[in-house]
Amino acid sequence: MRRFPPDHYISGIRSGDRLVLSRAITLVESQLESDQELALAVLEQVLPQTGQSIRVGITGVPGVGKSTFIEAFGKYLTGAGKKVAVLAIDPTSQRSHGSILGDKTRMETLSMDPLAYIRPTPSGGSLGGVANKTRETMLLCEAAGFEVILIETVGVGQSETLVHGMVDFFLLLMLAGAGDELQGMKRGIMELADAIAITKADGDNANAAEHARLDYQNALHLFPPAATGWIPPVLTCSALQNQGIVDLWQIITDHQRLLMENGYRDQNRQQQNLDWLHSTVRQRLENRFYAQPGMRAKLTEIEDAVRNGEILPLQGARRLMNFSP
Ligand code: GDP
Repeated sequence: MRRFPPDHYISGIRSGDRLVLSRAITLVESQLESDQELALAVLEQVLPQTGQSIRVGITGVPGVGKSTFIEAFGKYLTGAGKKVAVLAIDPTSQRSHGSILGDKTRMETLSMDPLAYIRPTPSGGSLGGVANKTRETMLLCEAAGFEVILIETVGVGQSETLVHGMVDFFLLLMLAGAGDELQGMKRGIMELADAIAITKADGDNANAAEHARLDYQNALHLFPPAATGWIPPVLTCSALQNQGIVDLWQIITDHQRLLMENGYRDQNRQQQNLDWLHSTVRQRLENRFYAQPGMRAKLTEIEDAVRNGEILPLQGARRLMNFSP
């Protein structure tokens, strides 16, 4: 990868140059220490231009219709003159082939839209590490003038919690007719949602979608009300028929307005930044700890002892912490 002086990235991003934006994101994703230094310098310089977008997280099980939805939703937004960036966190990318956005047929129309920018997730690395890159990428996109950032994730694990921790609005897509277990949905994920949309509410599926909507609406009523005063709505949508798309944008902007007025939007973002700080420190400490000379061999030895039941994990952890090369 070719490196440029910081000003190249900074002025390119500020002027909305996509090629430079892509270069800067590649820099952010690099594991090299020197690249990370450079990336940090760039991020620091563009920081005043960040924070102006509406950050939306979108999750749902594979097949729920995320990419079809994002295509329709993104097109609606660009049609209204908004600049939209789509980022993705894909915890499955290491196991399956490539990232969820790697497939070129996904979001074909949106990807050719001059007002849209689609960036696949980096594969590899710990989920937490990938999430941090997504945060940085989001800031770069904001500095480049993107007004709506859509962060997509597959709802199969802890990735939705990570995404929830970096957005203003969290949208859960669900299928009608599939049981909660089938959708891998835990109560906790529903509790994170600022809205639930039942997808594919068209044709023969329209009735079932409406039933599901009422079911989930009732289920949400059982949760304690959010401190923000927001009551998460449940709606049906069809990306294929462009139904529910406008309504959803209305919901997101209503939510944004409420939280801007009552101060929770800024409070949430402050808390998210503190969490980012703490998780980064935790991660770096852990990396540093395991990088100590001789630690690998020691770890293997302790793991064997724990596996064989010779020592308790507690004891093993103690020995590792006290280990000095
Ligand atoms: P993802 O895995 O969540 O990204 O799901 P996709 O967007 O790839 O959609 C999975 C399948 O559902 C595809 O065959 C889509 O054509 C189909 N699909 C997506 N949205 C709709 C919709 O609004 N209506 C109908 N009938 N099918 C849809």
